Amino acid sequence: MGILEIEDISISFEDKVILDKLSVDFWEGHIHAIVGPNGAGKSTLAQTIMGLPGFRKHEGEIRFQGHSIKRMSVDERAKQGITLAWQEPARFEGLSVRSFIKAASSDITEQAVDEALTMVGMDSTKYKGRSVDKTLSGGERKRIELASIIAMQPKVVMMDEPDSGVDIDAINNIFLVIRELKQRGTTVILITHSAEVLKQSDHAFLICDGKLVDKGRVESMLAYFEGKCKPCTHKNEPDVVDGFSIKENGIMESIS
Ligand code: ADP
Ligand code: MG
Repeated sequence: MGILEIEDISISFEDKVILDKLSVDFWEGHIHAIVGPNGAGKSTLAQTIMGLPGFRKHEGEIRFQGHSIKRMSVDERAKQGITLAWQEPARFEGLSVRSFIKAASSDITEQAVDEALTMVGMDSTKYKGRSVDKTLSGGERKRIELASIIAMQPKVVMMDEPDSGVDIDAINNIFLVIRELKQRGTTVILITHSAEVLKQSDHAFLICDGKLVDKGRVESMLAYFEGKCKPCTHKNEPDVVDGFSIKENGIMESIS
């Protein structure tokens, strides 16, 4: 039995089917990848698993450790041990790095903050008092967000495009953290359209147009990046809806 099982999930936005009877299951302590082109529905799947507002009206079932979590709030799911690192990490102007990491739970000690920052390769004495705002680079914010997730000691970590907006040193550090999380028994779900990120995983699901196209070992799934995504007719073009394009993070942007 998988630690997290997604069964026949369907979700639509304004009559457009985004996830279409999608079933995937994640095994405890493994690193899984969800791969697929832009607009495939990868971020939607992560946000639906997390139960974020706007992603609650779906069909199908989500089970964590054998029990349905469908009716649970985001907070309740987080308390169960399910976490999501955003593609675009949030900024909390004025909040210190220390407070940001501690905010997730009153159980997070000063020592846990130090350990989490060290694990993401950041000098905790240098960063703890800094503000989580635009004075930090995108890569630093992403690593701080990862530190906050590590401090929560989650059972499942979903990472949406862990390599987006980070430099090569930061991405190598994130890859180290992924392996460390696995060593600790955490189930990791990497959401990506990068072959490099896919190579960090044990097993992958290929999704396209909200459907599961293929699944299997990483070696066989890498063929998708060589243009051998045969069963799939997706054009891999950004969506354009009446003068708006939908950015990677699902936010609509005017193109006029
Ligand atoms: P991926 O992460 O695989 O690039 P997304 O899950 O972000 O894809 O988006 C899948 C499709 O769902 C997008 O092409 C977009 O059309 C649609 N979509 C995502 N979020 C919303 C939303 N909040 N409102 C309307 N449509 C959305
Ligand atoms: Mg996405």
